[in-house]
Amino acid sequence: MVSRVFYDKLICNKDLVMPGSLKSCSSQSWGCKSLSFGMELILAQLGWKPGVNSMLRIWNCGWVGGEVPPKRTSLGFPPPDSMSSFTVKDLHTPSLCWNRELIFDLFEPEWARRICAIPICNTAVDDCFFWKLSSSGIYTVKSGYAACLASYLSVHSSSKDESRIDATSKVFCKKRLWRLPGPPVWKILVWRILTDSLSVGAEFVKRNLIIGSVCPWCGEDGMVETVEHLFRDCFLVKRLWACSSIGISTEFSTSVRLRDWIKNWINYFYTKEDSSITVIRFLSVLWSLWRIRNDIVFSGKSFSPEHFFAFLSNSTNVALEAESRLASAVSASRAVCYDPLDTLRNEIRNYFPFFLVGEKGTCAPFRVKVDASWVSSLQASAGWIVYAPNGECYGTFAISFDAESALQAEAIGIREALRWAARSNLLHLDVSSDCLQLLLQLARVESQHHLVKGILFDIESDLLLFHCICFSFVPRRLNKVAHNLARAKLGL
Ligand SMILES: [Zn+2]
Repeated sequence: MVSRVFYDKLICNKDLVMPGSLKSCSSQSWGCKSLSFGMELILAQLGWKPGVNSMLRIWNCGWVGGEVPPKRTSLGFPPPDSMSSFTVKDLHTPSLCWNRELIFDLFEPEWARRICAIPICNTAVDDCFFWKLSSSGIYTVKSGYAACLASYLSVHSSSKDESRIDATSKVFCKKRLWRLPGPPVWKILVWRILTDSLSVGAEFVKRNLIIGSVCPWCGEDGMVETVEHLFRDCFLVKRLWACSSIGISTEFSTSVRLRDWIKNWINYFYTKEDSSITVIRFLSVLWSLWRIRNDIVFSGKSFSPEHFFAFLSNSTNVALEAESRLASAVSASRAVCYDPLDTLRNEIRNYFPFFLVGEKGTCAPFRVKVDASWVSSLQASAGWIVYAPNGECYGTFAISFDAESALQAEAIGIREALRWAARSNLLHLDVSSDCLQLLLQLARVESQHHLVKGILFDIESDLLLFHCICFSFVPRRLNKVAHNLARAKLGL
């Protein structure tokens, strides 16, 4: 139902991921608005990887590293009618190379070079899109949420909001706060203290609200309830801290802001042994102070130390028990579980040839060690050294080419080495590379990165040319010759 309404109301182009497929409509319901907001957010962060025979419009789609390449300033815009409908395919020559002359005519030189560095593969690969905000090109909820938040803040933030949380608190929240032991409500309380978002008396005064703003513990006239006073500086609270199982003295700390005081203590506890128990005892006092304070303020209860310590010891014990159950569950799961991918990685590191295509015949293989070099100016090179079955060096080779990333250079290196071997009629091969990431993607153990997908397809289809081919991982220190061959080709 939702999708039908959504399609009818919003979609004018069935191909959702093409620009301009969303209708703008004045009478949208909140549901439709939120869906279209989500879609626009996602569409804005999608980039295109052109395939073979790509039908992507060169002036509309983000197809060069996810961006729309700007036209050459001398070209004038909008581009002449004959060019406005150009697709990526129109920039290829009939022999499947980039038409460099045309590309340098249409785009600024810097962009033209980037375009020419995009490898063209021979295997038919469709246009595909990738998520620009993650290095793998795959959408993650975390990066999507970050994009959503950034877009929200760019519209709604004011200087006041930005100063609410200082830099060290930001780091504390990111690295430590949400990993603290204890129930989530404790952490939320600390987070609200760090971000100044706890509604205590002082905040009411700031907003001219005439609600009880006096300290609930001591009730002294003129003693406004600030977070510092409420949680630390009130003379009654000082005694509670001193008598609690953590036994902290809060004298001499009045000049420190509460948020810094809390961060300092927690950071200090983490330098000691049994830190999680101490942190639980500490947070439990903060939580009990807040709960008992709310009982006084909202339920009109009177304060009694017995009640406070009963509440404190109960909440401490519950949290400590939960923590010890968690610790034993974690150690038990560590004993039985293992990550199969990790095991595979270790095996590969220990040199096992990790995949084999064809049948291992009686014929001894030639051994090819490949490596590639890449510099950020998009230039790349590959080198390979070939050993005959008797162990003698058969020859060394190096080529240079353009590539978009180091991983792509490694992939092109392997593809070209294989093509060379096929041309030289060496059909029993043992290929080694020091790029584990690429080998894992080639073996489809890890998902293939959008920048190398097409090239890996090329390699896969080339494999059929060989009688037997085996890929193995070689540590970098044993791949020096190929490494130096590649670097020398780039003049490094
Ligand atoms: Zn007080």
